[in-house]
Parts: sequence; structure tokens; C-alpha cells
Amino acid sequence: MRHLYLHIPFCAGKCFYCGFYSVERGPADRIDYAALLCREYDGLAPRLGRPRLETIYTGGGTPGLLGAPGFRRLAGELRARGLLEGIAEWTVELNPASSGEDLLAELRAVGVNRISLGAQSFDAATLARLGRWHDADDIARAVARVRQAGFDHVGLDLIAGLPGVTDALWRETLARAVDTGSEHLSVYGLGVEPGTALHAQVAGGQQLPDADAQLDALALAEQLLTAQGFERYEISNYARPGRACRHNLAVWRGADYLGLGPAAASRIGRRRWTNRPDLDAWLAAVRQGEPPPRASEDLWTDEEDAVERLVFALRLNGGIDPADLARRVPALAGRARDWEARLARLASRGITERPPGAASHWRLTARGREVADAVIADLL
Ligand code: SF4
Repeated sequence: MRHLYLHIPFCAGKCFYCGFYSVERGPADRIDYAALLCREYDGLAPRLGRPRLETIYTGGGTPGLLGAPGFRRLAGELRARGLLEGIAEWTVELNPASSGEDLLAELRAVGVNRISLGAQSFDAATLARLGRWHDADDIARAVARVRQAGFDHVGLDLIAGLPGVTDALWRETLARAVDTGSEHLSVYGLGVEPGTALHAQVAGGQQLPDADAQLDALALAEQLLTAQGFERYEISNYARPGRACRHNLAVWRGADYLGLGPAAASRIGRRRWTNRPDLDAWLAAVRQGEPPPRASEDLWTDEEDAVERLVFALRLNGGIDPADLARRVPALAGRARDWEARLARLASRGITERPPGAASHWRLTARGREVADAVIADLL
């Protein structure tokens, strides 16, 4: 296990579209949480041996709400367990509204070397409709502060296909995102998650752009960003050459990862589990030295494990080699031949192709990326 995810489940409010687990708590509670997060690791440590981590990804929620004292405490706990030794990439997600100079200086000091900023849009009216706490200029100012603090790897998240965003506004958002000089841009399609304010608005008659309009927005992003020198290395992710997110790449390539905190998911060997999204239940358990309650926990067969680890790499530009499946689990040779035949059939419809220089691999074409979930579900 070389990849660690830390979930920070705090937000200052709820963005209208957001289905992630987060709650509102005061500063003292947030620092307490930072101090306790590694206790969940302690319960698992005997089974993990002595992991040599390569990457840490700190997401949320709004990790910036831990503040400089919270990150100092969190880093101290990680260091005390040897989990910061040899780390190649430590990402922290920040909101433009919670990325002050003190926090950034502390993040640099403890070894964070990659910042991912939730921008979502550069249009003021759109940001207000989303219930964000920042405006477009705050994003540019946040990137400037991050650079000033000495970070040379910055990413922005954007949402495509938002209501009220014209073609011209979307072009402007993409251009302003590129102008920030960020090395990494993530472009997600808008989803309507149950339980969100957006879900209620849609149920009340709010119109959203249709699927074609969303695909057009995603296609425009590909066209404009690749023209600017970004590589679309994963369906939703673009990076300057050599600046992909190592943590997420490892997960898509099928590596083990451990997630700590309420709602965090883990894949270790054939085990998969997701913690229950309940901060109080999580706190009560770790204070007792107990495992936190799980929303799901499964022990997969060798076959299920091998299939899942391989198939999601189809989201990556490098694609997959069906023969890998047979190499990992010889009993799956028949399944590998079936994948080969299916992917070849999809190639005749313009959905898959051989990547240049990789005659045994298949990857999705631009058209195939639009139906990636359906292709992966078919292979699964
Ligand atoms: S989008 Fe991010 S900041 Fe907004 S509520 Fe969700 S986790 Fe919090």
C-alpha cells in the first residue's frame, strides 16, 4: 500500500450541486479531527506492515478549514508514524476562499507539494448560482498566493455543462483557467446528486443543459485545452506533459490505497471498504480504538479483484491490455479473449482504438470517452 487518502469532512456551507459528505464544525473540533485522523491508521497498521508511501491526497470537504494549526498537527501525526518518509507527491485540495498565506506557508513547511483548487467557473453569476463562496478574481488571486508560497504544481477543477453558461462564457472560463498558468485542469460534467439543492431545484422545474450540450462543452474543453498544450491523460483530467496527478493515476492503474476518515474508501488486496459517512460515529469509534463503522465491506474473489483493477485504466489515455488479465489470473484467459473481441468490435464503431506504439492495448477514442461508463460497465 503506497497511496493514502485523507478525507477532511468539513465545509463552511453546502454548494448547491455537491453530494460529497461534509459537515459544519468549529475550529477546535476541526483541529481535534486532524489530531485523531491517524488513529484509524493505527488500527490497521498491524495488517499493513510498514508501508512506504509514495503519495498522499487530502480531499474533502474543504481541507483548508483545518487551517495552519490543523495541518501542523496532522503532519506531526503522520510523521510520528513514518508516513511522510520518501513521499513523492502530497496533494491538498483548497478552496480559493480558504487558501490564506499562513496556511500555504504551513503546507509548504510540512511537505505538501501539490495544490488543487476548486475553481468550478470563472463567471461570477454562475459561481453565485452554485452557492460558492468566491468570485472569479478570488481564483486568480488564490493561484498567485499559491505560487508566491513556492508551489510549482497547481491544479484547478472546473464544471462543464452548467445551466446558464453559454458557449462564449465556457470559452472564457477555459481561457482564464489556462491564463492562471496551472499545470493541471480537471473538467467534470455536472451531475445531479440526490439530496442536493440542485436536485431539489431540478425537481421543481429548473432546466439543465441536455446531454448533447454537456458533451459539446466537454468536447470544447478538449479542443481548447489540447490546443494549449495540455494532454487529456484521463477522461476528466488534463495536464501539462509530466504533470499528471500521481495519486489518481496510481488508483486508476489499480494500485492499493487506504482512505482515512468518514466516507473514505479503501482497496487493500482483495478487500474493499467504505467508511460510513458519519463524523460523530467515526470519532466515537477511533476514540475507543475501534474500527470506524463501515457503509460497505467486501472480500472479493481473485477474479473480481483482477477485473476491477484493470478495467478502470480504460479511463486513461494509455488504455488497457486485455492480455494483462490472463497474466494476472490465468483462469481469466477466456474473459481476456472476450474483452479483446468486444474492444475490437467497438473499434469498428469508432469507440476504441490502438494507442500509437502499443499494439496489444486498447484505449477509448474521443467518441468513446463520451460513453466510457457504458463501455466499462459492459466489460465488467
Ligand atoms: S463542492 Fe467542495 S466546498 Fe462545496 S460543499 Fe462540496 S466539498 Fe464542500
